[in-house]
Amino acid sequence: MNKVNQYLKSLLLLELFKGLSLTLRYLFRPKFTIRYPEEKTPQGHRFRGLHALRRYPNGEERCIACKLCEAVCPALAITIEAEPRADGTRRTTRYDIDLTKCIFCGFCEESCPVDSIVETRIFEYHGEKRGDLLMTKSDLLAVGDRWEKQIAADRQKDASYR
Ligand code: SF4
Ligand code: SF4
Repeated sequence: MNKVNQYLKSLLLLELFKGLSLTLRYLFRPKFTIRYPEEKTPQGHRFRGLHALRRYPNGEERCIACKLCEAVCPALAITIEAEPRADGTRRTTRYDIDLTKCIFCGFCEESCPVDSIVETRIFEYHGEKRGDLLMTKSDLLAVGDRWEKQIAADRQKDASYR
């Protein structure tokens, strides 16, 4: 009896019509997919994307070379070298982040006492050759300078939740 049932099912293409009816049912439902890159999904203000180093409004670097971010980084992706300036302040002479090691955990920005190293909302970047994803201090400052308005607004929003 089972074999007859199976034979009838395949003869009448029942499985095929079952599949087609399922497709038809989902055809008119709201879509869960988007047409990236023309369409983008909403982004939270705490999105952890490309890193940036920030400056104060007077142009001075925020980073005081305390190396907390370097110590806390679980991927050992941050390398910092520092020395005192002539005015006695301590600043970095080297601040590198190897994005091929980074796991975007956000520990570095959490640990920073002066809100200097942050993760921006930028996620569309790439490297084409070895070393392209090694962000140097000047690269990080350039990202910070370019996106400061959005970074500051996001930090403001974050503070309002606390
Ligand atoms: S996000 Fe995490 S892994 Fe990446 S540099 Fe910061 S602390 Fe390291
Ligand atoms: S970025 Fe912040 S945590 Fe890292 S060395 Fe500079 S001041 Fe310290």
